[in-house]
Amino acid sequence: MDEEITCAICQKSLDNVNDVVTLREKGSEEINRASTERNYLILTVPGQKVHQTCRREYCHPSYINRAKKKERESSISSRRSLDRKTEQSFNFKTNCFFCGTNVDLEDQKRRQGDVFGVTTLETKHTVLQTCFERKDEWAEVVRARILHVHDLPAADAIYHQACSVNFRTKKQIPMQFASEQHDVKKRKIGRPQDEEKNDAFLKVA
Ligand SMILES: [Zn+2]
Ligand SMILES: [Zn+2]
Repeated sequence: MDEEITCAICQKSLDNVNDVVTLREKGSEEINRASTERNYLILTVPGQKVHQTCRREYCHPSYINRAKKKERESSISSRRSLDRKTEQSFNFKTNCFFCGTNVDLEDQKRRQGDVFGVTTLETKHTVLQTCFERKDEWAEVVRARILHVHDLPAADAIYHQACSVNFRTKKQIPMQFASEQHDVKKRKIGRPQDEEKNDAFLKVA
């Protein structure tokens, strides 16, 4: 297939030859670093081509700060739309950051392989990329969670292997972990009074 080569930053065509640079290692690292700062989704490798102007803007501190400010605002509003109780009880050390379910660590010792700890910084990037591609409610929840943590490995973030696979493959939360997510949906639709009742009911049950 004859695929057109596009700018790795703006995804537009590189027809203006005077404005094109081929990234070397340093340049691509610079863009990736700016991506981390921006919580954005561009990962480049040496050899990729970008517009010179795109690269300058993308890596420029004042543009980054502007993007960060925008990002903060949007993540605050998306966080507000989440159920507060669920999120308050959410803990990276004990809850799968995909489904939010509390992981029984004792139980996990017996059944190894189901839960993993995040070991690399790239995980956040990869997951954000998937959030971007999914654009659904689950992606919003996951995004809001991980955006607040700079360093997932340092936060001892854990996740279910099954959730990770389903998230990446654009499926929904695995059945066995889906209850929490349903709660989020229910409460979002229900009025505040209903939330209280719901909670009480869940506790009794
Ligand atoms: Zn560009
Ligand atoms: Zn999970």
